[in-house]
Parts: sequence; C-alpha cells; structure tokens
Amino acid sequence: MKAHDGMYIDGAWRPAAGTDTIEVVNPVDEQVIGRVPAGTAADVDAAVRAARAAFPAWAATPPAERAARLAALRDILVARKDEIAETVTAELGSPLPFSQAVHAGVPIAVAGSYAELAATYAFEEKVGNSTVYQEPVGVVGAITPWNYPLHQIVAKVAPALAAGCTVVLKPAEDTPLTAQLFAETVAEAGIPAGVFNLVTGLGPVAGQALAEHPDVDLVSFTGSTAVGKRIGATAGAAVKRVALELGGKSANVILPSADLAKAVGVGVANVMSNSGQTCSAWTRMLVHTAQYDEAVELAAAAAERYGDRIGPVVNAKQQSRVRSYIDKGVTEGARLVVGGPESPREQGYFVSPTVFADVTPEMTIAQEEIFGPVLSIIRYEDEADALRIANGTVYGLAGAVWAGDETEAVAFARRLDTGQVDINGGRFNPLAPFGGYKQSGVGRELGAHGLSEYLQTKSLQF
Ligand code: NAD
Repeated sequence: MKAHDGMYIDGAWRPAAGTDTIEVVNPVDEQVIGRVPAGTAADVDAAVRAARAAFPAWAATPPAERAARLAALRDILVARKDEIAETVTAELGSPLPFSQAVHAGVPIAVAGSYAELAATYAFEEKVGNSTVYQEPVGVVGAITPWNYPLHQIVAKVAPALAAGCTVVLKPAEDTPLTAQLFAETVAEAGIPAGVFNLVTGLGPVAGQALAEHPDVDLVSFTGSTAVGKRIGATAGAAVKRVALELGGKSANVILPSADLAKAVGVGVANVMSNSGQTCSAWTRMLVHTAQYDEAVELAAAAAERYGDRIGPVVNAKQQSRVRSYIDKGVTEGARLVVGGPESPREQGYFVSPTVFADVTPEMTIAQEEIFGPVLSIIRYEDEADALRIANGTVYGLAGAVWAGDETEAVAFARRLDTGQVDINGGRFNPLAPFGGYKQSGVGRELGAHGLSEYLQTKSLQF
C-alpha cells in the first residue's frame, strides 16, 4: 500500500520532526502494509502555524469559490473511489463491497452536500436594524477514529472548509493511509496551501498536542467517551469551542404492532455491519415478552447467515476487548444463542457474529459499548418498561423504533433521549444532523447543523 513518509503541511509533504513511525496492519492477515510517521508536538505546531497563516485569505474567499473547491474535491473522491475502497479494506479489513458502497460512497455524498451548502447557506441575515454575519470560527483541530476512516474525516473537514475555517487533522493511528489519500485529493482539488493539514501520530502524543494547542480555536473530536471527556475538559479550561461525537449503546425498540421479521432482520444487519464497529449501532434489541422467543429465533437465524461474510475487527486489542465482553455476558447469566468468544479463524482479528438472549438491562453487555458484532436481546413487559430500558444508559446517540404505523412509532421516538431515530427502517440521510444526547456528545455533524458548528455570530446595528 502506498504510504507517505511525511506530513501534509502548508500544501506539501514535509519530513516529520521526529523519526518514530507507526506500522499499519491489515486486520485480515495481520501483515504490515505500510508505515507512517508518528507526529510530535513540533509537527502539530508547524501544521497549526500553516493553518493560522492560511486562515485570513480562506475566510475571505467568497462562499461560491469555497463551494467550487468542495465540488472539485467531491469529483476527485468519485474519480478515486476504487482506490479509497481498497485502502480502507486494507487497513480496516471491511469486505470490499461494503468499502465501495459505504466507506467510499458516503463521503462522496457528504462532500457533495457541503459543496451545495457552501453555495446556498445564508452567511448573512437581517434582524430588525441589525445585520447578522456567520463568520468562521478559525483554526480547527480535527481528531478522528478508525471505524469509518474517510467518513469521519469528511464529516469534519468539508463543513469546516465550507464555513471558511482552516484545519489540522490528526486521524486514527490504525487507518492513516486513508487520511493520506484524502490529503492527496485536497491538493488535487486546488484547495490553497495551509487550508488543510495532516499530522499522523498517536492519540496521547499528536492528538493531545493538537487538543491543547493554544492557537487552535475549535477542537472537533470523534472517538471514545473517555478521551472525549478529557478533550472537553481541556477545551473548557481554555474557553475554546469543542464538538464531541462519542460512544453509543442504542436501542432498537420493536413495538408489538411491528413487522417482527423485518424489524429483527434489519436490526441484526445494523449491528453486524462494519463488524459492529459503528457508534450508532442498535446493539440492544428490545422485544415485547409475547414475541420474545420468536424474535430470538429470527435473530439467531439472521446472525448465522452472516457467518463468514463478516470482516475482522480493527486490531488485536479490539478483538480481545470484544471477546472479554462476550465472556462477561456469559458470566453475568445472559444466554449465548449464536457465536461466542472463540476466534472463528486462526489468522486475523475476527470475532463471530454473536447474539445474546435473556439479557437484563443492568448487565454490562447492555450498558457498555462493545464495538463488535454483538447483539443483546432484552425483554420488555409494556411500553413504559420499553421506554425506561431504552433510556436507561449514559448514552443517547441513535436508535430505531418499529410499529404498525408511523404515528405510533413517532410518538415513542419523541420520548427517547437520543439524537437520531430511524422509523420503521428509515434510510440514512446525509443532510440530517447526527450527534448525541447525554454522554454521547456535544454538537452535531452533517447538513446545515454540522456547518453551523464551524461558525460564530457577529451582529452589526444600524
Ligand atoms: P479513541 O478515543 O481511542 O480514539 C479516537 C481518536 O482520538 C484517535 O485519533 C486517537 O488517536 C485520538 N486520541 C486518543 N487519545 C487521545 C488523547 N489523549 N488526546 C487526543 N486525542 C486522542 O477511540 P477509538 O477507539 O479510535 O474509536 C472508537 C470509539 O469512537 C468508540 O467509543 C465509538 O463509539 C466512538 N465513535 C463515535 C462516533 C460518533 O459519531 N459519535 C463515531 C465513530 C466512533
């Protein structure tokens, strides 16, 4: 796999300040496929300086011109989509068709949406005797996870650039090759030097240096709740803007009037997709006691059909973490219906699609984010019980409600403490705001709401 041995700073690939590197490993066969530099505070500082220097001119660039650069970026992502999919598959391990459809496809849609929004958004409005301007916040420090390597990058960089901000990106250490490929597309799109900068490196070194840098105006972080809390505290102490997209433990609530087979089938697919490494996955399936046994049977059959089609999880640490959660489920008394802690293959970081029944709401596997292909099926007695269980975690990122008619499902969804709910299998919408209630985060990504995260308001009175 192609790997750059430098950082993309101020429009060029520059040597890293230090000599340490990070090995990139293919999770399917555990082979090293590349090496990238492990950035230090000095690299971060150089990147932030470049972003600061580029900020005034980019902020003053008319929105229509920023939109044109984003449209060019979208077109290059389209032209290089096969290469993107192959790179994601090599470093994340996801099956190629999924990489093509989702890992390459969704960022194209999101980049396109911001090309349009940059051109049409009202950056200026009249309010009585005032003119209110939406101005870019400044230099953005973007820190992203590995689970959707390109989507997480584009969901921050595209709105930041549309707003007129400049960016320093610190991508996840497991998937830096996709980030380097993205930097190439930014250069090809004619986005001016310094507007986008890339520093690869370890979270506690390069990531922390970026989050703490005094000349970063906004930190946008996606990752674990534990790291997000620290970043939020650092930003708070510096009175700095912060956006946090954190963990989830979303509920898939199947009301008695729903099409049970469809709700269970889509629910299982949702959890197993991307090997369960989706923050918004509906990892708790809530089923009425009268339909419980039938739902467990349907879920078991659906999970078994996944069998070998599922990719590995991202690395050895994640594999052992997921397997220890499965052990914990068994120890705490949940009933293992499909899968289990044993590795299904000798090589690669694989975990079997796993389904637990007789899970009670207080069990660890019903409370903590596992980030693997593990589904917990929980029984409820009535609607009030379902609502209490669904809302009974520290998280509130996403969810699903299934019912015989939409009105009933919507009434239930409105009572969920969560940022997004899919009604009867509603489709992904790249313009719908995405983000968490409670400890799932602060702020929203995607669409106009995502753009406004990168803007601050000024009003002039006449
Ligand atoms: P992580 O928090 O370990 O890492 C995320 C990013 O933060 C990486 O780039 C990492 O290098 C960096 N980082 C780590 N320690 C840091 C520190 N001390 N200072 C600054 N940066 C640091 O998370 P992960 O294991 O890569 O990703 C999985 C987690 O991300 C899961 O909890 C998942 O739910 C969450 N996630 C949330 C969303 C969302 O939109 N809400 C999306 C995807 C993933």
